[in-house]
Amino acid sequence: MVLRMSQQIYDALREHGEETYPLECCGVLLGRFAGAVNDAEEAVRADNTRTDSAHNRYGIAPQELVRIQRASRERGLEIVGFYHSHPDHPARWSPTDFAEAHWIGCSYAITAVEKGAARQTNSFRLAGTTEDDKAFEDEPIEVTGQLDPGLEPWGDARRTREAAC
Ligand SMILES: [Zn+2]
Repeated sequence: MVLRMSQQIYDALREHGEETYPLECCGVLLGRFAGAVNDAEEAVRADNTRTDSAHNRYGIAPQELVRIQRASRERGLEIVGFYHSHPDHPARWSPTDFAEAHWIGCSYAITAVEKGAARQTNSFRLAGTTEDDKAFEDEPIEVTGQLDPGLEPWGDARRTREAAC
């Protein structure tokens, strides 16, 4: 299981967490399910509806989620994950995160933001088949597009290989 995204998306979701600090940010990852890989092609910011406790909770309004899902399907993309931040807490899922995670197969990325600066970003795949046997599994984040422009031949080879998959 891998969550794959471009450097641009990776930076965007981490910057979102810095902007909303000391409150939690949240958003949706759109892309494609590709076997063991959740390929995130876009990060969509969402408003944190948990105004009661936004420093340690996040919530996306159902209407907003439906709107995001509808717009993404029109473009051939699906919701492959969610992201949020943990202000001054480690990038590990909390019991509340687990209880409120319902999208089996999706990736849940969490960024620790310490004193306003993004630190670790981890991702967890919601495995299982139902609410009863669901479980969070650690998954690596593969960040693409980090190559130095000077290493273009290798970059081309990499793109070709990806295209062939
Ligand atoms: Zn959390």
